[in-house]
Amino acid sequence: RMKVIAIDGPSASGKGTVAAQVAAILNRDYLDSGALYRLTALYASQQNIDWHNEHEIATLAYKLPVVFSTDSILLNGMDVTAAIRTETIGMGASAIAALPAVRTALLQRQRDFLTPRGLVADGRDMASVVFPQAELKIFLTASAPIRAQRRALQLGLATDGADYQRILNEIEKRDQADRSRTVAPLKPANDAIILDTSLLSIKESVEKVLDWYRK
Ligand code: C5P
Repeated sequence: RMKVIAIDGPSASGKGTVAAQVAAILNRDYLDSGALYRLTALYASQQNIDWHNEHEIATLAYKLPVVFSTDSILLNGMDVTAAIRTETIGMGASAIAALPAVRTALLQRQRDFLTPRGLVADGRDMASVVFPQAELKIFLTASAPIRAQRRALQLGLATDGADYQRILNEIEKRDQADRSRTVAPLKPANDAIILDTSLLSIKESVEKVLDWYRK
């Protein structure tokens, strides 16, 4: 078993927040693997490379000039912490993540985040592909309307009305794309524990993960 807690799940499920808090409590490093896909998509668009150009994007992914620090991400020396969080870049990340050569290019980079301190890794295929020997595998999810509400709150928007509807549509579209692709489709690993956080707070979700970890 590897000293890795894998937390996979759909977008806006809260897995990033939960994973980061679990990592802090256990004194481990945290890998936000989605950020690598987002960075690759952003880098490609900065260089006017089409999101369907598998070969060129994989080449970019291999040499992504990224520096992660506690509260910012630098790409080529530029602070892109906010720029990678837009829904456009989310869709781009989802598009390039369906390209097998791009996933291969990012595989070793993700594994390199594991040091003797141990790791909490969040993404879509942490349990199935990147860290199949993880000591604990969680599939963290919530219903689409709840995820849309959480995303709206996070963006300072109303949790009903047009903005909410637009966010819900985007979430359902990205879920559909992530589930239906042939490489690393979004689904729980066979040996993952499913944690539905629809009715749980972040604190309660973190507690659940820690409970399973201590068992
Ligand atoms: O988690 P996040 O929303 O930041 O991920 C952005 C996109 O990157 C996802 O929609 C998914 O298609 C892709 N992704 C992936 N594998 C991962 C992490 C993210 O395919 N491990």
